[in-house]
Formats: sequence, C-alpha cells, structure tokens
Amino acid sequence: MDYQAPERDAQFIMHDLFQVESVWSEIPQLQDISPDVVNAVLAEAGRLASEVMLPVNQSGDAEGCRWKDGEVTTPAGFKEAFKQMADGGWLSLCGNPEFGGQGMPKSLGCLIEEMFWAANSSLFLYGSLSVGASLCIDAHGTEAQKRTYLEKLYSGQWTGAMALTESHAGTDLGIMRTKAEYQADGSYAITGSKIFITSGEHDLAENIVHLTLARLPDAPAGSRGISLFIVPKFLPNADGSLGPRNGVSSGSIEHKMGIRGSATSVIHYDTAKGFLLGAEHQGLAAMFTMMNYERLSVGLQGLGATELAYQQSARYARERIQGRSPTGPQNPDKAADTLLVHPDVRRMLLTQRAYAEACRALGFYTGMQLDRAKFAADAQAAKIGELLTPVVKAFLTDRGVECALLGQQVFGGHGYVQEWGMEQIVRDARIGQIYEGTNGVQALDLVGRKVMRDGGQTVVELIAEMRQTPVKSNWQSQFDAACDRLAATTESIVRRGQKDPALPGAVSVDYLDMMGNTLCAWMLGRMAAVAPADDFGAAKIATADYFFQRILPKTEGLAAAIEADSDVVMKLPEAAF
Ligand SMILES: Cc1cc2nc3c(=O)[nH]c(=O)nc-3n(C[C@H](O)[C@H](O)[C@H](O)COP(=O)(O)OP(=O)(O)OC[C@H]3O[C@@H](n4cnc5c(N)ncnc54)[C@H](O)[C@@H]3O)c2cc1C
Repeated sequence: MDYQAPERDAQFIMHDLFQVESVWSEIPQLQDISPDVVNAVLAEAGRLASEVMLPVNQSGDAEGCRWKDGEVTTPAGFKEAFKQMADGGWLSLCGNPEFGGQGMPKSLGCLIEEMFWAANSSLFLYGSLSVGASLCIDAHGTEAQKRTYLEKLYSGQWTGAMALTESHAGTDLGIMRTKAEYQADGSYAITGSKIFITSGEHDLAENIVHLTLARLPDAPAGSRGISLFIVPKFLPNADGSLGPRNGVSSGSIEHKMGIRGSATSVIHYDTAKGFLLGAEHQGLAAMFTMMNYERLSVGLQGLGATELAYQQSARYARERIQGRSPTGPQNPDKAADTLLVHPDVRRMLLTQRAYAEACRALGFYTGMQLDRAKFAADAQAAKIGELLTPVVKAFLTDRGVECALLGQQVFGGHGYVQEWGMEQIVRDARIGQIYEGTNGVQALDLVGRKVMRDGGQTVVELIAEMRQTPVKSNWQSQFDAACDRLAATTESIVRRGQKDPALPGAVSVDYLDMMGNTLCAWMLGRMAAVAPADDFGAAKIATADYFFQRILPKTEGLAAAIEADSDVVMKLPEAAF
C-alpha cells in the first residue's frame, strides 16, 4: 500500500479557498501563524503519515492486538510509531499552551488528522482518544486536574480513553449502571463494567486515563443523573509521578472486523478510585466536549479511508490493462488498454475523488467554525459548528465506506484478496459508521435536536451564507436550485414533524445525506471558482463538473423520498417483523 499525503490540496483549501491568513490575522492567538509555518507543519505531518504510520498499517492488521492476564500487546512497530507521533508534538497540536499545548487552530488539525487516519486508523485511534480526553479535562477540570493530566496526555506519556458503553447500554446511556460512591477523602469509588473501550488497555504508554461515566447513589434517573470521573490506571502521586495501581482492569479484548491494531477492551472497575470531572450529575454534558471532538475526528477517519482507497485504485487503474476503449484501442501496441479507458471505472474514481476533495474542504470549514467559536467567541460560528458536527461524522464515514467499496471494485478480484490491502480499507472504514454514536443516531441528532429545536433557523442561516459565496458561474443556477431544495425540505420536515413525532426519525438519514451532498456541491463549486489556470485547477473544475452533473441530482430523489409520511415505515406491525 502507498500513501501520499494530499499536501497540495490542503494548501489550496487553506490559502486559496478560505484564505485563512486573513481570518487568522484578526484573531490575536492565531495572527502569528504564517503560511510558511502552516506548509511546513503539513509537510512534516505528511511525512510522519506515509513514512512512519503507513508501514505498520497492514502488518498491524495481520498481527492484531493480544490479551494476556489483563495486559494487551499492540502489534510490532506500534510502540515506536506512536512514540514518534507523540515526540513530534502531534498530540498537543491544538492543546492549551498554558499546559504545554501548541494552541494551533482546529481547522489545521483537521487536515492533519485526515492524514493520520488515512495512513493508519488503528494507530491514530490511540492518539485521537488522548486528544479528546485532554480537551475534556481542559474544559471541565480543576486547575489541579489540568496540571496533573494535561502535560502527560499532550506528550503521549499517558493516553486517554472514554468509557461510556455498557453491555446493556449503548445508544441509551441513561440506563447505565456503573456506580460511584462518595469517599471520605473526596474521591469516589467506581464499581461496574464497561465494554468496547477503545485504547482501554495497551502497552504504548505508562498510564491510561479513563474518562468514565457513572451514577451517584442519589442521582436522578436517566441521562440527567450521570457524572463524569477521571479514573487513572495508575494513581498519580502529588508530584505527578506514578503511584499505586488503581482497581481498573481489562477483562478481555474484542475480535473485530477491522481496526485490528486498535485494542477494544472490556474494562472492570473494582471500587476503583475516581475523581469527579465537572459537576455532579452533569457528566453527560461534560462528556460531550470529548464526544463532539471525537465525532468530527471520526468523520475525518472516513475521509482518510476515501483518500487512501482513491489513491490505491487510481494507481491500479493507470497500470492494469484490460479490454479496449469504447472509442477504439488507445494502446494498440499492447494486448489491452488501461482500466482508465472504461467510463464506468472513471465513474468510480471520480466519485471517490470528488468526495475526497469536497469532504476535506467541508471538514476544514467545520474546523474553522470551531476556531471562530473558541478564539473569537463567535456565537453564530458555534451554532454552525454544532449543526455540522453530526453531518461531518455521518456523511464522511458513509462516504468512506462507499468509496472504500468503489476502490475495492476498481481492483476486481484483486480487491477481494488480502494482498493489495483494499479489503482492509473496507473493513477498517466500516467502524466509522457505528462508533461515536451510530450514523442513524447522528442523523436523529441533526433533525431531532438541531433542526426541529430551532424550527430550522440555523439551517436557513447556513443556506443564506451558501448563497452569498459564488460557485463557478456555469453551476450557479443548479446550485441555487439545490439550496432552494434544501430550504424547502427543511421547512417541510419542521412543519410535518411538529404534528408527527415519528417523522424526524423516519426521514433523518435521507435528510443528512441531502444536506451533505448539497454542502459538497458548495465546496466543489467554490473550489472550481478559484481554481488556478493550470493542470491542478483544470482537474478541480473537471471534478466539480462531474459532481454537479452526476451526483448532485441525487438530492432531487432524496427530497422526494423525504416527502413520504412516517406511516410508510411505521405501519407494519411489530409482530410482522
Ligand atoms: C470497535 C468499537 C470501538 C468502540 N469504542 C468505544 C469507546 O471507546 N468508548 C465507548 O464508550 N464506546 C465505544 N464503542 C461503543 C459504540 O459507541 C456503540 O457500539 C455504539 O454507540 C452503538 O451502541 P450499541 O452497540 O449498544 O447499539 P444500540 O444502541 O443497541 O443500537 C442498535 C441499533 O439501533 C439503533 N438505535 C438505537 N437507539 C436508537 C434511537 N434512539 N433512535 C434511532 N435508532 C436507534 C442504532 O442506530 C443501531 O442501528 C465502541 C464500539 C466498537 C464496536
């Protein structure tokens, strides 16, 4: 497998499409970040991805993780590669400078995370959980907690984990049972078991910081009665050094379809010592700081799969000769033409390419909203960032699986066997649709929470922004029509959803798909409008042309499907299933 980080594309998105330097120049904490620094950071991240992380991707999948007596051994080479990631400062990139973070913008972080996910999603999971845990402690921790944990997490000396799921409580966290009891010393004793905990146990770092949801004895029922605790594997001494082993242990690890280099653990808490993070009973809200980070990051995992699959299949299609062009032989001296002469192979490659480019820009745009919210207290940007988080998580991971499958298809039978790595990309991409809240639940979050709650107002505001930024002129009328369609569909869902409680859930996945595709058209149309007059720019325009003519029209079908009443999915009685 080969991987070339899309550096040129990332630079184009930052400097030409969004002109971030002018945005950052108005934000004191970001105004000193020069284009040269940004380009150097992208280049170094790309090198780490392709030269350090990628080489242990296929071997890590083949070897997997091993569990013995509560300890987990990660695949050969993971320790060294993780150390290089940590020593390079990649886990502290967007961290709080007061505690050793580098304070870089999230938008830049999005471009870099994509590279790490593409090169080795199992390995980057250990890093991603650490970044999310440090974000959560920074947002909700006491001064002392920040001092104890942040520097260690930023440096990779310790790693993070998020422990929500129990065997009977996945999506419905309100019914979880893990309990927390007050202790005389101000800590809490945590008892219970969690399942499916990513990076819950491993050998890459000396300590693991489990951010754990549990219920206090006097807690109200449901999701309003959950508190969040820091439960370290080794209890830190007052000077920050490692103290005694805590009562938290791995019971086993899962045997999985993909991401086999990532250890997914059952975690037992045997009156483990926990420290309250944030306020009592407010744990789920605090955990959302980590979950929202992870959701955006998992979306980028989907984008990484799309890009990785595209690069493999484009190269294969250039080299593999099979059949003749419909317009006559293109390589008369050879036994056959390359796969690239076949219109259907081009359809598959262009779909992957269009989604990779559009989703990269969409991820960056979403990161920019979070930057504005964080550094400039911009409430409107915060609202758009919240609206787009479930879209990025679900749409990008759905496209990741679709494009991994397309890549596999370009390889024919060679995509099905292990040798070329295409079946691994499919297996690794699939989890993105399931964890961090299934994509069905993301769609429900989008429609049920974000759209219904404000009567579609934030979507209307986003569409207003979309209409203000020109796309390439020949596509402007199609784009205006797509915006009209999204606005009308949003209004229809809000109106019908007020009378029919089943309606949002019945149409939410199609609506998220429609919104994602309309946003992709916006990104590709804008990129085509500012494309340079060279081969790079011509390819941008050709990719946008393909998307506007072959993919955007699918939103018309989605709009029609969304007009169906919820009755169509609800009327079959339970007994008939
Ligand atoms: C490899 C892996 C790693 C993971 N890592 C972590 C981790 O680090 N930490 C952690 O806490 N968890 C982790 N998880 C758990 C993961 O987040 C859950 O599996 C996921 O949220 C779904 O929960 P569930 O499996 O219980 O499915 P269920 O909640 O039982 O859902 C089953 C189906 O019903 C649908 N559904 C359920 N409720 C609703 C609803 N209200 N409305 C509409 N549809 C609904 C779902 O969309 C899904 O299709 C991991 C899981 C895996 C497989």
